[in-house]
Amino acid sequence: PEVAARIAAGEVVERPVSVVRELLDNAIDAGATRISLAFDDGGLSRIEVSDDGRGIPPGDVELAFERHATSKIASIEDLHRVHTLGFRGEALPSIAAAADVEVLTRARGEPVGVFLALVNGRPVRRMARPAPEGTTITVRDLFARVPARRKFLGSPAAEARAITTLAMHYALAYPGIAFQVVNSGRRILATSGDDDMRHAFAAVYGAEIARQVLEVDDCDGGVAVTGLAAPPSIHRGNRGGISVFVNGRWVQSRPLLFAVVEAYQSQLPVGRFPLAALHLRLPEDDVDVNVHPAKAEVRFRDERRVARALRHAVRAALEAAAP
Ligand code: ADP
Ligand code: MG
Repeated sequence: PEVAARIAAGEVVERPVSVVRELLDNAIDAGATRISLAFDDGGLSRIEVSDDGRGIPPGDVELAFERHATSKIASIEDLHRVHTLGFRGEALPSIAAAADVEVLTRARGEPVGVFLALVNGRPVRRMARPAPEGTTITVRDLFARVPARRKFLGSPAAEARAITTLAMHYALAYPGIAFQVVNSGRRILATSGDDDMRHAFAAVYGAEIARQVLEVDDCDGGVAVTGLAAPPSIHRGNRGGISVFVNGRWVQSRPLLFAVVEAYQSQLPVGRFPLAALHLRLPEDDVDVNVHPAKAEVRFRDERRVARALRHAVRAALEAAAP
């Protein structure tokens, strides 16, 4: 692909974990109830995501890899009420510009699937192939042709940790989806998809912790907060065990993570952080989750109000449980 495509690719696809996030988002947007993720070498040699979603119609498979060819926005009005995780139509073309990609997909109602291989962002092979309903996308040798990008990556072990952490947050964000995660042939996470937050929590953090975790359910200033928070006796050395979801999406927001930590006040040892998975619901107009193509940021109309609601909700759960 031309230089511009490669530069744009870097915006969306910074690291293996950003590829994983885009592929998981597409699977979720496709209505998947089961999602399998497998990766090798921290995602650098292979990332594969399979879903049982609605699949890509035979006539649209190549189109999915063309820039801005999203199927999710039909009109300008749609832009103001985006309910899907993706809508820019940038992820697949960016990934295909940075890696070799194969897709096997069968759309609902189609008798047979389509297999398509792309090299350098261009289709090189297409054939009909039997396939289960849904989509499997395989990404190989990420950044092999973009050595400048490789220099900025961590070790394969660090990239694998980042992918594992992302998968844990997604498993907690979508307890109604059965996730399976395999790192270098070893299964590291499996959730049932029975839509029970406590079961997802048990799959991620273990049954013993899930048994002790406290229910959070509170509404403050138009922000509803539900989820689970561990008692202060359970803690971690970093913030990685705090998951915050806004209108169903996992967000990375320092003020919101800080609000969760603050709720525990001085109940945690110095330098220790809680375990919690919290869903915030607020009017779509009060939040913008699409400010950055890499989905790293979220912006609120009134961030302090949201942080306060989160802090209150967690504090109320802790106080209700306190002896
Ligand atoms: P966006 O998600 O912003 O629309 P992407 O580049 O991520 O853009 O995907 C392009 C298009 O490919 C999507 O709009 C969708 O139509 C199709 N697509 C991608 N992944 C899947 C999937 N797993 N299942 C069904 N359709 C998919
Ligand atoms: Mg997408």
